[in-house]
Amino acid sequence: MTEKFIPIRDQRLSATTLSIPEHLSSPTGYVQDDLGRPLHDLRISVTDRCNFRCVYCMPKEIFDKNYSFLPQPALLNFEEITRIAKIFIAHGVNKIRLTGGEPLLRKNIERLVEMLASLPTLSGKPLDLTLTTNGSLLARKAKDLKDAGLSRVTVSLDALDDTTFRRMNDVDFAVSDVLEGIDAAAAAGLAPIKVNMVVKAGVNDQEIVPMARYFKNTPHILRFIEYMDVGASNAWKMDEVLASADVLHRLQAAGMSLRNVDANYTGETAERWQHADGSGEIGLISSVTQAFCQDCSRARLSTEGKLYTCLFASHGHDLRALLRHPDQHSDLAIANVIASIWTGRTDRYSELRSALSNDLLQKSKKIEMSYIGG
Ligand code: SAM
Ligand code: SF4
Ligand code: SF4
Repeated sequence: MTEKFIPIRDQRLSATTLSIPEHLSSPTGYVQDDLGRPLHDLRISVTDRCNFRCVYCMPKEIFDKNYSFLPQPALLNFEEITRIAKIFIAHGVNKIRLTGGEPLLRKNIERLVEMLASLPTLSGKPLDLTLTTNGSLLARKAKDLKDAGLSRVTVSLDALDDTTFRRMNDVDFAVSDVLEGIDAAAAAGLAPIKVNMVVKAGVNDQEIVPMARYFKNTPHILRFIEYMDVGASNAWKMDEVLASADVLHRLQAAGMSLRNVDANYTGETAERWQHADGSGEIGLISSVTQAFCQDCSRARLSTEGKLYTCLFASHGHDLRALLRHPDQHSDLAIANVIASIWTGRTDRYSELRSALSNDLLQKSKKIEMSYIGG
């Protein structure tokens, strides 16, 4: 048998060196990029490790025992994360999502939640503080997370059928444990709960209708996500993507009557659909077939403190180097660096994707989803 080998470059080593602008100005609570998009949303990856090996994210052949995950001292500590978050809030961020890897694997994550939840926002309203998890540790941690100040959670679940789910997470994890996690989150009040299902054509698309039926008549919002070409290790191919339009047709063909409803806010990634009989809501996230770069107000902080202005970026900006600099840069200095990065942002990868060939897409040097977070 020939061994499967997919060469990936370690983009974690690549980052631009940052310098402090000569003239410093105080953040005004609003900064817009080169395409007029504000900065509202910060996603923070708290670990690059995960106890799952989802085939579309951390395939086993790459993320095996020889893979070098980041050493502990490389990770931003909680004080550093909180300091950066505070600076982003001063620029207008009102929503923070913790992600990974699997964020619940980070030791004492509840403590970080508590530190972030206590940050004042510009509007005076509490920060919208959420977390995306594979649900494996949620039953155990939901109540403590809520008590620490987490607003809500998003749980990933790719199938209801146990065999399909075990094949997708590739570590033999059972569906029932994730469902138990969702129930515990609901009982703790981490609502509204969103459930993310990545649809990979020919792998779990037969689960679309059973998943929609299961979450109908619940307050949870099931969101179907188009399989994306993130990272360089999942050997993504366009013909494995099932378009959201096809997902919708399948639901309608199964007898579900759905009506399109307005977005909750500008830049919402999911298109919202409600069951006409009032029995719940689903979302369609069409990152591949209907790019939503136009309103993208999301910045991403990697586990080791690099700032990425797009999920598909190949270079990060090393904020950790500023935080740990012997010159002890002030918050104002770091805020000015972040403002200058955001002001120069022109990313719109998903809009440009259709113009690239499969071959070029495979060769582009993108960072891994497990490193930057979803
Ligand atoms: N481990 C957590 C989880 O799975 O929820 C958080 C991190 S995970 C990288 C965040 C989200 O990205 C998950 O909902 C996951 O399903 C999604 N994701 C990962 N790889 C993807 C891909 N290739 N295409 C679309 N979504 C993907
Ligand atoms: Fe882990 Fe989440 Fe990636 Fe699955 S999608 S491998 S659970 S980080
Ligand atoms: Fe935002 Fe980049 Fe995704 Fe476009 S491709 S929506 S710019 S993260």
